[in-house]
Amino acid sequence: MAGKRRKDSWGFPNWGGYEKSQDAVTQKECDRHGCEEAGLCPAPKTPNSPERWYFCQKHAAEYNRGWDYFEGLDKEEAAERQRTEQRDANAYTEASHYGWAGSGDGTRSGDELLALEILELETDADFAAIKKSFRIKAKSVHPDVKPGDEEAAKEFQKIQVAYEVLKQAEERRQWMGANS
Ligand SMILES: [Zn+2]
Repeated sequence: MAGKRRKDSWGFPNWGGYEKSQDAVTQKECDRHGCEEAGLCPAPKTPNSPERWYFCQKHAAEYNRGWDYFEGLDKEEAAERQRTEQRDANAYTEASHYGWAGSGDGTRSGDELLALEILELETDADFAAIKKSFRIKAKSVHPDVKPGDEEAAKEFQKIQVAYEVLKQAEERRQWMGANS
């Protein structure tokens, strides 16, 4: 009897009493409908939501391919959000930790393309070119060079965020190359 209800109730901790709700928390399954793998990979449900899906690795990768972190935002908002979230070490950092920041298949993700645009680079720029452009641009708006210049400070932060996105993507690609 209990065994019959357990399978249907995993997503609804209030069904079946206290003991089963404990099960539902400790043995969380992948949120992908019909999948019974362990849901170990958190993924933001929407860009502005603290809520998370929990997927198995396979479905995490699948979800990740369709994920555009900057969807629906203009560049300013996107840069602002990334700055805020990096500062707070919250969703985006967590997402990066689990490999959510990129497309995961070696191609450029939406956030990488945006970052390249900020650094005024072509979409096929290599990391040496990224580094070079970052240094030149960062120097031109560095707070030491333009003290008290609010616009320059904003630009400087934006460039840093863009570089960080591209650096993480590069590191991820190297990691994947080394482990495949
Ligand atoms: Zn799954």
